[in-house]
Amino acid sequence: MKVGFIGVGNMGGPMCRNIIRNTNHQVAVFDLNPDALATCTALGAAAGASTAAVAAASDVVFTSLPMPKHVEEVALGAEGIAANARPGMVYIDLSTNSAAIARRVQAGMAAKGIAMLEAPVSGGVPRATDGTIVIMVGGDAAVFEAQLPLLKSFSKEVIHVGEVGMGSVAKLCNNMLAFCNIAAASEALLLGAAAGIDVHKLYDVICNASGNSDAFRGLGPKAFSRDFKPGFALDLAHKDLRLALEMADEVGMPGMIAPQVMTLMRTARAHGMGGDDSSSLLRVYEQALGRAVR
Ligand code: NAD
Repeated sequence: MKVGFIGVGNMGGPMCRNIIRNTNHQVAVFDLNPDALATCTALGAAAGASTAAVAAASDVVFTSLPMPKHVEEVALGAEGIAANARPGMVYIDLSTNSAAIARRVQAGMAAKGIAMLEAPVSGGVPRATDGTIVIMVGGDAAVFEAQLPLLKSFSKEVIHVGEVGMGSVAKLCNNMLAFCNIAAASEALLLGAAAGIDVHKLYDVICNASGNSDAFRGLGPKAFSRDFKPGFALDLAHKDLRLALEMADEVGMPGMIAPQVMTLMRTARAHGMGGDDSSSLLRVYEQALGRAVR
């Protein structure tokens, strides 16, 4: 089978490399960033000349792109996938998006005879790299079953959650919770530091106690090493929380905690941290309190 992969950055790169390593499929990649492209061609993928060229030559095309506007352009633009792929191809979007945009892209694909799965992922760069990333898939059940072996070639946990749109719903609920957890984890570390405990010891305790979370476990090493280069950029986290809050408005669900975390994110971006890791929410607390987690 011929597999195309467009967008091989922090997340798409490791997922694509696992497809190359774990299957015998011919893989062609395209990315605007030549350095990102090289991480996949070094393992044997062909470098596509453009999205259109990759789409035209593939049986299945993945995308992993930053913002909804990038997905819509690459999927439905004049030089994009729908305009250039052959009918019968399958399109799988691994990006985080809104349900409304996913459904709009699905309709554009369907008009060209292309089936679509929306398949946002969770677990960050480490789990994209070691193949334990979770994929939540929205789309037709028969299309899902047909693509399951390919999805399992780079994911430990693939869950079909309903029609196109439900993958985005699952992903946005998950990320809203994860960002609230980062904020709460930041407060706990700062509170401990202010109260005088050795924060490394506090970290060890909480990692083994009831306050533990993925967010807390991930935040400690970032805080202690002061390494905030992005695995998951704050700008992308802000996009996800914005989409989650829009979804909350659409369904009439008043949030209590998430809107406050949005204010934290806006503050972090206003301080120029948008390109840094999303764990930089901690630094907003640190700047406000004039105290660092050490
Ligand atoms: P990234 O910026 O590292 O990678 C995106 C890649 O897409 C870049 O290499 C960029 O050059 C490329 N690109 C952008 N526009 C393009 C175009 N028109 N044609 C071809 N290539 C293009 O972002 P990322 O962190 O890998 O995130 C990708 C998606 O995955 C986002 O939707 C994000 O919300 C989601 N996500 C990220 C994480 C994470 O931890 N980083 C976790 C889960 C989900």
